[in-house]
Amino acid sequence: MASKKLVDLHMHTTHSDGSFLPRDLIRHAKEKNLTCISVTDHDTLSSQAECRDECAKQGIELIPGIEISAQFEPGTLHILGYFLNPEHPPLKAVLDDIQKARRERNPQIIRKLRTLGIDITYDEVIAESGGKQVGRPHFAKVLLKKGVIKTMNEAFDKYLGKGQPAYLDKRRLSSKESVRQITEAGGIAVIAHPKQMKLSEEELTKEFGRLVDEGLGGIEAYNSCQDRQEAEIYKKIAQRFNLIVTGGSDFHGANKPGVELGWMGDGVEQGYDVIEKMRERISKR
Ligand code: AMP
Ligand code: FE
Ligand code: FE
Ligand code: ZN
Repeated sequence: MASKKLVDLHMHTTHSDGSFLPRDLIRHAKEKNLTCISVTDHDTLSSQAECRDECAKQGIELIPGIEISAQFEPGTLHILGYFLNPEHPPLKAVLDDIQKARRERNPQIIRKLRTLGIDITYDEVIAESGGKQVGRPHFAKVLLKKGVIKTMNEAFDKYLGKGQPAYLDKRRLSSKESVRQITEAGGIAVIAHPKQMKLSEEELTKEFGRLVDEGLGGIEAYNSCQDRQEAEIYKKIAQRFNLIVTGGSDFHGANKPGVELGWMGDGVEQGYDVIEKMRERISKR
């Protein structure tokens, strides 16, 4: 039997909030028999070059990728970009700005935690991050190691999550700007884990109408946080707006326990046809 090409289009390295170094993530993808992947670090393209080199060594096809955090209420809106040029100067400039704002936010989170009586320093969090982008999961890991909380989720529920006492928002692009930046860099924009937008089916459909007008190309119906029933709703939305249906595990290594590479919920397997569809869509522009 010819082996099926296994695809996973959503995963993170130490350059954002994953626990695997880029080369180790790629080696892990090889162990999991993935043949085509996209590494989608949050708000940064800094891991792409190393991933490309290691993928070449391992014989894995790498689709350039990113996951941009956009402004949104009530939930979160993450926009994946695929097939973009990781060296596109305007996109790089915008991402540099976002990184700078993040570096300004982080010490403020430390101050909030210390005000709550927790003994934590920024150096400890930087050490946890591996020296690249520092995000809330790194704060959570330090809290876990110190025994302040017992699980990563508890750190968000009690301290770091939206509305909690140590929460601080970061600079975000609008959805329109995110989609535009991805598209102008030659890529296609896809809404990640729509479940996290926290909308009813009706509201979600309306929101996708707006996003499609802004240039959206796809929807991540399959993600480790979504079940089959939810995926059916997202596929219905895809059909209505002629969006490409994608899938990814959202693997973060030890920073998101229980989620393995290639696993996108309920035994779903992402076929290679999604790659061909995206290529075709981009070539018609
Ligand atoms: P940041 O980019 O610093 O705002 O951190 C956002 C990241 O924190 C997300 O990409 C997730 O990996 C993680 N995260 C957010 N909310 C939660 C949660 N409730 N439980 C676990 N991880 C979370
Ligand atoms: Fe993340
Ligand atoms: Fe996300
Ligand atoms: Zn992600």
